[in-house]
Amino acid sequence: MNILYNLKEILLEILFPSRCIFCGTYLEGYICPKCIKKLDFAKNYCIFCGTPLTSSENICYNCKKEERIVDGLELLGYYKESWETLVFKFKFENKPYLAKILAHLGKEKIRGRDWKIDFITYVPMVRERELKRGYNQAEILAKFLGKELNIEIINALVLKRPILEQKALKYEERIENVKNAYVVNPKVDITGKNILLVDDVYTTGATLKECAKELKRGRAGKVFSFVICKTLI
Ligand SMILES: [Zn+2]
Ligand SMILES: [Zn+2]
Repeated sequence: MNILYNLKEILLEILFPSRCIFCGTYLEGYICPKCIKKLDFAKNYCIFCGTPLTSSENICYNCKKEERIVDGLELLGYYKESWETLVFKFKFENKPYLAKILAHLGKEKIRGRDWKIDFITYVPMVRERELKRGYNQAEILAKFLGKELNIEIINALVLKRPILEQKALKYEERIENVKNAYVVNPKVDITGKNILLVDDVYTTGATLKECAKELKRGRAGKVFSFVICKTLI
């Protein structure tokens, strides 16, 4: 991208911060109603892992046979096309404010489930990576969801050792990478509480399952999860 183009983009961002991230229309809310309509929202999927289903059932084959750690998952879409663009901008193009519209869209999905959520929490990030990016996207999303749903946010999990970025790893390596990496924050009491765990993207589910396992080891009640997207693998 050339410098002049960048400069023009930056100036427009400063002068008109509320532009639709897809078509550039000026508006409040960062995605215009037309582009929201074009987003391909996930429909008919497994209520525990988000896998798309073709039958009228709501639990996938794997979730039926495996022991379930996460008690329910809600998502907006699958990690491709517009959703991929949106998540990329949210995570890597310094647009934390997209959390507002994402949380607004997520609220309806979460309210559609019969979850009695006591607290909302999020997947923590490696400190250095968070400092470099300037924010933890999962935490920001959790905060906006808390506002939308009127539920308290707690910092329930902490990383007890550094981990590698999951996206560069293979399936088995991802499981190993996060194994016993998280611990319940000793300053919070989650005994018997139902928790909504927020993350950005569900790929293999290794991170969410590890975090949920730790929350349950910390005597949480049920652990539900919300992600923006699931990657179809
Ligand atoms: Zn638009
Ligand atoms: Zn499933």
